[in-house]
Amino acid sequence: MSAARNSRFVGPRMPRRIGVSFEFFPPKTEEMETALWEAITRLAPLKPNFVSVTYGAGGSTRERTHATVKRILTETMLTPAAHLTCVGATCADVDAVISAYAEAGVRHIVALRGDPPAGAGAQYAPHPGGYCNAADLVAGIKRITDMEVSVSAYPEKHPDSPSVTADIDMLKAKVDAGASRAITQFFFENSLYFRYLDRVRAAGIDIPVVPGILPVQNFKTTRAFAARCGASVPDWLADRFDGLDDDPATRKLIAAAVAAEQVFDLLDRGVTDFHFYTMNRADLVYAICHLLGLRPERRAHQDAHRQPEKERA
Ligand code: FAD
Repeated sequence: MSAARNSRFVGPRMPRRIGVSFEFFPPKTEEMETALWEAITRLAPLKPNFVSVTYGAGGSTRERTHATVKRILTETMLTPAAHLTCVGATCADVDAVISAYAEAGVRHIVALRGDPPAGAGAQYAPHPGGYCNAADLVAGIKRITDMEVSVSAYPEKHPDSPSVTADIDMLKAKVDAGASRAITQFFFENSLYFRYLDRVRAAGIDIPVVPGILPVQNFKTTRAFAARCGASVPDWLADRFDGLDDDPATRKLIAAAVAAEQVFDLLDRGVTDFHFYTMNRADLVYAICHLLGLRPERRAHQDAHRQPEKERA
């Protein structure tokens, strides 16, 4: 490691405003609910631009996603973004979800096509009478409400896509329909992100393309997940976790170092916004944000669990 790189870890230069967002998934059990809220409470004082809540495959978490988003909205000062997919539902069903979010005060949706009910890799067929793809869904949202809409982007191409050009055409269609931010699938080689960004800009797409950062909580799970969603896992990454299967403490240190190295390289090359896949755990993400210079704010901390109106009066 060079002296210049090393110096970032003892006193990072913070020339620009750093923006972060955090992604969570809706909990299935009470225990998971507790873990999620511990993570939210720890990360809230870092004042993310928004926190997003995923939508289970095939709409399987419709109620739980809604409940989590609603709780974030009523109990914290955070800005929630609700993920929504087109899978297994008619346009009327999806429109009802969008309207319910709008009525609850949600102002941001992450609009996705979603994976086929048989799982990633199976042939996708739109639901009869449903939105046919993510661009169609973005247009549907914009017809109902003028919410902020974010969409997905794939630095390594979506596995269903016949070509990078087709992939970028789909991103363009989503932007033309009203999306104002793209969040990328996770990646480990920053060169993939910058090559993709060059192509996106060359196609005339000028919305922010925020890199999705996945701190590696568990290497084996990450590798299996990456294989399903078409993200490559470089040999150097496997090498860094080699031999640590039974050593969670060292794994965590390595995971923090790997993610810190990735975000500092992105930062050095002009990136200022980062979306973290938290897997509902705060520790690694908190540490990386700390390295990025983010510090808890007292007001945000107090607001992480907002007092009911009556008690504040
Ligand atoms: P799109 O942007 O619509 O398409 C992606 C690519 O696939 C495009 O290039 C398009 O041309 C191509 N393509 C699409 N349909 C076809 C087709 N029928 N034939 C050939 N090519 C096609 N999944 C969830 O279930 N819930 C979530 O909450 C969720 N959140 C996500 C958040 C982010 C930031 C990302 C990156 C992904 C997320 N996903 C989620 C995964 C996503 O649903 C899957 O990757 C899904 O397969 C594609 O949905 P999309 O909106 O990304 O696809």
